[in-house]
Amino acid sequence: MRPRVLTAITVAATLWVAATISMSAQNRWGANYFPNVPLTTQDGKSYTAEIHGEFFMTLPEWSGYAKATLAQQQAWDAMVGKLRKHENEHVQIAYRNAQKLVKTLTNLKVEDAAQKIADSQQAGQDAQDDFDSSAKTDHGRNDFNTFPKVELDTSADPPPPPPKKP
Ligand SMILES: [Zn+2]
Repeated sequence: MRPRVLTAITVAATLWVAATISMSAQNRWGANYFPNVPLTTQDGKSYTAEIHGEFFMTLPEWSGYAKATLAQQQAWDAMVGKLRKHENEHVQIAYRNAQKLVKTLTNLKVEDAAQKIADSQQAGQDAQDDFDSSAKTDHGRNDFNTFPKVELDTSADPPPPPPKKP
């Protein structure tokens, strides 16, 4: 039989989410979404778990944007909008996962709480991988549910210049 936990359990769980979109000079993008969950205990019985999630989304920037035609800018904006929707879902997955953890993190033994946190982080990673799986969005390469394929419509590009006369 599992021993009953008689001590009062303190859970100070604050979930702070700041979804920040920062434009990157390098053409890299993605979302950072792993909440850090330090678990502290003074007596090995009651514990405090602090959940802080800070999510950063980095989207690509096109250095030629200002000089592009309106049609090209609109094509670029449409692509970035699809990418933002995709990356925002990664943030939402992390947020939902953290909220679930907050709800389950009470009245546990310290070691069980630590295990819950580890399990939650694994579940979060699994959910992220599932969203990016080839059966679903394939990292934005597929249309999936309300998530459109992330692609750039290049039909707005001006025709190539005529070949130079010799
Ligand atoms: Zn993805």
